[in-house]
Amino acid sequence: MGMVDIPVTRLQRAAAASLPAGMSTGELPLSHTLVLILSLLVLLLAGVAITAARRREREGRDHLRALHEREQRLQLSLWASNEYYWQYDLDTRELEETRVTAETGGEFAVRVIPDRQTRIHEEDAPIVRERLIAYLRGETPYFQSDHRLQSSNGGWQWVRTRGRAIAHTPDGRVRLLAGTARNIDAVREMEGQHRIAAEVMRSMAESVLVVDAQFRFVTINPAFTRISGYDADDVLGKDAGLLNSTRHDADFYASCRAAMAANAHWVGEMWQVRKDGREFLCEMQATAMDDPVNGTRMYVLVAEDITERRRIERELRYLANYDPLTNLPNRTLLSERLSHAIVQARRQNGRLALLFLDLDHFKDINDSLGHATGDRILRATAQRLREVAGEGPTIARIGGDEFTILLDASDAPEAADRLAQAVIDAFDAPLQLDGRHEFIISPSIGISLFPDHAQVPTDLLKHADTAMYRAKASGRRAFARYSHEMDADIRHRASLVAALRRAIERDELYLVFQPQLSLTDRRLTAVEALLRWSSKELGEVAPSQFIPLAEENGLIVPIGEWVLREACRTLAAWRQAGVDNDLVMSVNVSALQLQRADFAAAVKNALAEHGLPPEALELELTETVLMAQPELASERLQAFREMGVSIAVDDFGTGYSSLAYLHRLPINTLKIDKAFIDGLGCSPDNEDTAITTTIIAMARTLGLLVVGEGVESPEQLDFLQHHGCDMAQGYHVARPLPADACLRTLLENAAQARALRA
Ligand code: C2E
Ligand code: MG
Ligand code: MG
Repeated sequence: MGMVDIPVTRLQRAAAASLPAGMSTGELPLSHTLVLILSLLVLLLAGVAITAARRREREGRDHLRALHEREQRLQLSLWASNEYYWQYDLDTRELEETRVTAETGGEFAVRVIPDRQTRIHEEDAPIVRERLIAYLRGETPYFQSDHRLQSSNGGWQWVRTRGRAIAHTPDGRVRLLAGTARNIDAVREMEGQHRIAAEVMRSMAESVLVVDAQFRFVTINPAFTRISGYDADDVLGKDAGLLNSTRHDADFYASCRAAMAANAHWVGEMWQVRKDGREFLCEMQATAMDDPVNGTRMYVLVAEDITERRRIERELRYLANYDPLTNLPNRTLLSERLSHAIVQARRQNGRLALLFLDLDHFKDINDSLGHATGDRILRATAQRLREVAGEGPTIARIGGDEFTILLDASDAPEAADRLAQAVIDAFDAPLQLDGRHEFIISPSIGISLFPDHAQVPTDLLKHADTAMYRAKASGRRAFARYSHEMDADIRHRASLVAALRRAIERDELYLVFQPQLSLTDRRLTAVEALLRWSSKELGEVAPSQFIPLAEENGLIVPIGEWVLREACRTLAAWRQAGVDNDLVMSVNVSALQLQRADFAAAVKNALAEHGLPPEALELELTETVLMAQPELASERLQAFREMGVSIAVDDFGTGYSSLAYLHRLPINTLKIDKAFIDGLGCSPDNEDTAITTTIIAMARTLGLLVVGEGVESPEQLDFLQHHGCDMAQGYHVARPLPADACLRTLLENAAQARALRA
């Protein structure tokens, strides 16, 4: 072996060198030989010793190097793991830390920090102690604890330590513990945030679902389960298309995914299907989450069920734009449609017509029959309007009993007239209120035109309203087209109403009396009281002007009561003056008066006040008033029959009542309207002639007294007499007269009759 060879060769060389010159080993004596051998031996031993020492030295160096390398590795691993080494002496309670820091130049620096003070946070100390005891008792394989330690700068930091015993006392007690520790502030912070995030997701009201790049479920929260009905087992790993609804086509969902992928963000509304098949609308917000390390992507979808919210919004929108009673558009929506229609019409040089419809006497009906019936009438009216106007025009209810129909037609004026007439005709047939009840009501309609009358919705509406008033004034159940003169008319009406309110107290009202002639004995057996108004500001105002106005705003109630008392007062005075006791006073009564529950009492009082018997009074009601509310009319009239006051049906023939129906009401007299009397005697086959003779014949068989109204000629009078009519009233008999003039006429007539009899 080489190592051994080298010293031997050297020894030989050294021995040779030590001999005197010229002397070889073979020539030496024995003593010399022994010395030489001993010397060689010594040399050999010395060489061996040197070699061993050198080897030891080399081995020591190698060992040190290996030790150094291990130490370097240990340092490196401590540095890389960001941990430090600690050692704790249980006897001295001394803690020693070895920290490795990479100083500049890549060299590691080791600092040993001996520490006698406990720097464990007081809240964590009991746990640390507990863990240590558990380990020392052999209950745990090693000691481990997470706790707070105070760092050199005084702040607290969380550390995770792990260690075990490295030295024991002779009696086997642990003397020295060692291990590593590292700062876990960041870990704990991350864990904390993770916990918070998980808790937030768990408790969120919105459903949260995380899907992978292929839109497969990765995780869901409880709200998702609550909203969709699917739990984790149902969905995890499956495609999110599981929830797709048929309300959207496949392209919609594909485009949403494409947008999420392209923009990493998407917000929108989407219909989805629950597990039980019900659909729900959700407002969704999708955000992409990219993992920079492995390049994968996930989407966090936060969705809120907005089905109910949308439904409420829709309902509110409906309420804001529609009338809940009739389901027709309301004033707001009408204005919107009207504006839109005007813009269109202006662009296309088109024309529009707005029909403004108001039900005649609706307010009275509502007041007397109650709002429930009023509502039924309005609903039935809406239905009737739909039937007449069809799908095209916008029908709206803009308040109370006011309806509009918006017509878009190139021949708007004519089309509007046609439609208005069709509506009026359609209301001739009774409205069906509920399976059992029927009701007849008529509309009055005003028409305004774009661009003829107005350019903006409000004006168009205002003018149609004005025209409607004109239609009402012209006797109701009529339509009128707006004209600019009507505005002056409206102003005039307003001033009339204002003046009329003060008419009673200012004593401007008075009565005139028109006698009625009995055709059997040519006696004046009745007079009709007719109202007149002599206004201080406006002069004489015709009843046809102010009576409809008074009816519209309820003034007719106090005025009618005044008429009743005044008529009774006059009759009582006439009786005092010698007029026959069988003279009947006829008084006109409006619908509104009849509806008043206290009307019968008012009549009774008026009679009693002037000591008149009930037979002295007759109340005139038009058939329209009677037919509008047959049940109420029947009930009220029954009270008068019991009282003994007679009832006349005025203007008979102008309404739509059937004589057979009227007969069921407790009435006494029929007054044939002037319109039929006018045509009498012109020619035998005249229609009026036929109608009048029929009415007279039927009335007689029903036991009713018949009066011909508006008799202006002797021919008409003769005709009536010839056909068995009981009485005649008209200019030919006598004009309406002031009280004193009428009294004279009555007395004269009575005297003539007496003379004739004598
Ligand atoms: P009415 O009850 O049918 O009264 C008859 C109307 O015909 C009266 O008109 C009378 O002057 C008119 N007249 C009578 N004979 C003739 C004739 O031969 N030729 C013509 N052209 N007309 C004739 P007046 O007084 O203008 O009354 C109109 C309407 O006003 C009445 O029609 C009645 O409905 C209503 N009215 C009058 N006074 C009252 C009243 O005190 N209360 C109520 N509620 N209405 C009244
Ligand atoms: Mg009358
Ligand atoms: Mg009349």
